[in-house]
Amino acid sequence: MPEKPDRNAIEVRGVSKRFGIGENAFKALDNVSVTIRENEFFTLLGPSGCGKTTLLRLIAGFDFPTEGQIMLHGQDIAPLPPFKRPVNTVFQSYALFPHMTVGQNIGFGLEMLGKPKAEVKARVDQMLRLVRMEALKDRRTSQISGGQQQRVALARALAPSPKVLLLDEPLSALDYKLRKEMQSELKRLQTETGITFIFVTHDQEEALTMSDRIAVMSAGKILQVGAPWEIYDRPADRFVADFIGETNFLPGTLGAIENGRTTVTLSSGAMLPATLAEGYVPNGPATIVVRPEHARAIREGGDLRGQVENIVYFGTDTHIHVRLDDRNLFTVRQQNSRSRDCGFVVGDAVGVAIAPDGAQVLKD
Ligand code: ATP
Repeated sequence: MPEKPDRNAIEVRGVSKRFGIGENAFKALDNVSVTIRENEFFTLLGPSGCGKTTLLRLIAGFDFPTEGQIMLHGQDIAPLPPFKRPVNTVFQSYALFPHMTVGQNIGFGLEMLGKPKAEVKARVDQMLRLVRMEALKDRRTSQISGGQQQRVALARALAPSPKVLLLDEPLSALDYKLRKEMQSELKRLQTETGITFIFVTHDQEEALTMSDRIAVMSAGKILQVGAPWEIYDRPADRFVADFIGETNFLPGTLGAIENGRTTVTLSSGAMLPATLAEGYVPNGPATIVVRPEHARAIREGGDLRGQVENIVYFGTDTHIHVRLDDRNLFTVRQQNSRSRDCGFVVGDAVGVAIAPDGAQVLKD
């Protein structure tokens, strides 16, 4: 794949958004700064109510920041009303016009902009090809499936060639299989058009599989921005580790720290080598984080000891839940071979061996 250009599309600078006034005011965004690059598939990920939609609405111009600035290609966009911004939005609900055909829906925005009929027709046909909907051009949108409506909504938003496309949980209404299909479809559309996508989701798997970079949000703040692997392998704090993927948390006491590494003493007395999150200067007791796939269940020995409490088969892998001797629960994920037998049964005494570099110390 060609290298993506390293120019900024959107810069959000110290943006806060308060709803209401005085003591009852609610801070939906709290001093948020983030830069989104041109041609990037950028995802805002976080739990319900963390401020994702609010940030999209400010970029779209449907609402205004209480503080801070939003720049598009270096220009402050505050004076521009939504329809003058080179930004378009795909909503969760699609917001299609049910009495119009697929083709009319896609051409609607262009007609509003006063484009000549021939140009609108050519562009509509091009967009229909892009989203593979040529055959349904003359159908009313009330007579097509949810997945097809999603494609029309995308085609309509892409038709005026926006510089930035905002997508607010666009796949959440689709069933699992269709959602998977549309995920690769969206990726393809973004690569083919080269438009900057800002995608909102609360689904961590969706964010990890689709994004160039992800911003993890919680309670109106951005906690970490990074490539999917950075967010997953090097979570900045406990919230990010917990929100992305499955994680084991173990309480422990840190030994001496040298070059970002230490040895942790767990409550069982076991000692584990561990790395510290970048820039983290710990103070007092710490939480140790281990991903389930960085641990293995073994009969003899191991860094931790316990008893198998539950075994869950997932097809590609098996989760073994181990009740450790210190009463903490620990999940081990093992890949399955041809035989579905993981080698243990509930009640077995078991050791947990943690991979080198498998343990990290994170901020609470
Ligand atoms: P979801 O995934 O549920 O859509 P979100 O992360 O997109 O959540 P926002 O819609 O941005 O969250 O809302 C952030 C917070 O701001 C929420 O607590 C919400 O109740 C509040 N909020 C949003 N819009 C308004 C408004 N117009 N007036 C008052 N509070 C609002």
